Amino acid sequence: MKNKLTDKILSNSNVFVIAGPCSAESSDQVAQISQEIVANSEVQMLRAGIWKPRTHPDSFEGLGVKALPWLVEAGKKNGLPTCTEVANKAHVDAALNAGVDALWIGARTTVNPFAVQEIADALKGTNTPILIKNPINPDLELWLGAFERFNKAGLDDLTAIHRGFSIYNHAKYRNVPSWEIPIAFKEHRPEVPMLCDPSHISGNRNLLLEVSQNAMDLNFDGLMIETHPNPDQAWSDAKQQINANGLRDLLQKLVLRQPDFSQDVASMIEEIREKVSVLDDQLFGLLSERMQLSEEVGVLKRENNITILQQEHWSKLITKRLSQSESYHLTPQFVRILMEAIHQESIRHQTRIMNPRTNKF
Ligand code: PEP
Ligand code: MN
Repeated sequence: MKNKLTDKILSNSNVFVIAGPCSAESSDQVAQISQEIVANSEVQMLRAGIWKPRTHPDSFEGLGVKALPWLVEAGKKNGLPTCTEVANKAHVDAALNAGVDALWIGARTTVNPFAVQEIADALKGTNTPILIKNPINPDLELWLGAFERFNKAGLDDLTAIHRGFSIYNHAKYRNVPSWEIPIAFKEHRPEVPMLCDPSHISGNRNLLLEVSQNAMDLNFDGLMIETHPNPDQAWSDAKQQINANGLRDLLQKLVLRQPDFSQDVASMIEEIREKVSVLDDQLFGLLSERMQLSEEVGVLKRENNITILQQEHWSKLITKRLSQSESYHLTPQFVRILMEAIHQESIRHQTRIMNPRTNKF
């Protein structure tokens, strides 16, 4: 690609969409879906998995090199640049030789610095656009580290893809979004475009719109959505794929917030933010007072040989606050995280009181 993909994504006034099948299954399948999705003006890039990292060895692991020309030809025919996943140097060489425009690093590869380094080394001297998915585990540093490895190899056309984080038996998501991690990523690398992959977060097509809307409301720059001519017959990730009509419906329903920062709105937001800041001041003041009380309890515990952790008392505290979450209009998840954070901080204060010589802040 002549121009940088990152510039193309960031200058796009609409949502930037990468669509195409989880896996390339046949030349007809890739040709058909590309032709169908190109009718959506939002679709700007074609994806297809050629090598598939699968949990079980008897699952479909992709057709490999022979499927590369199907992707490249479908892209050319429909005027779409193409991308595929690579996990090692052999994949990089084959994909670039075949004329694939951009490469993505899958979540199972981002976790492995050896593999990321091998790919970065293989790409040295090229200006290939790379899309880097988050690692499967919620490790921001590992995600950032992958970007550093490509930067050090001289590659700077880098885009992030948030695809959620693996967790055992989650009731709702295949991969929990943990939105705080892409938000924290943005704090470190504000110049890097951030796409969301709602397909792998959802694991199920019914959730795609909700997750895509969440991403749009958090100011993500685009979406990667798995699309297939006959989703239920897909050889991989059948439950989460949609057809071209489904993609069109989803994109039509998506509410894109076009910011209107006219003078009035900006000053109204500023006014409310000032009130929020006053409340935050009060919250921190209260937390500081609360920790002083914890320290007083710590002194009594030390003098009377009572352990810091009193399980029964802690259970009572958290149960009480959880039961109040609805009346405070707070989610139980938030109440739990907040109470646990307060409790841990209180334990740190009391640990210091108990062992003044060995434990410092
Ligand atoms: C994919 O995009 O098909 C894929 C395997 O993604 P991930 O690395 O997010 O699991
Ligand atoms: Mn997939």
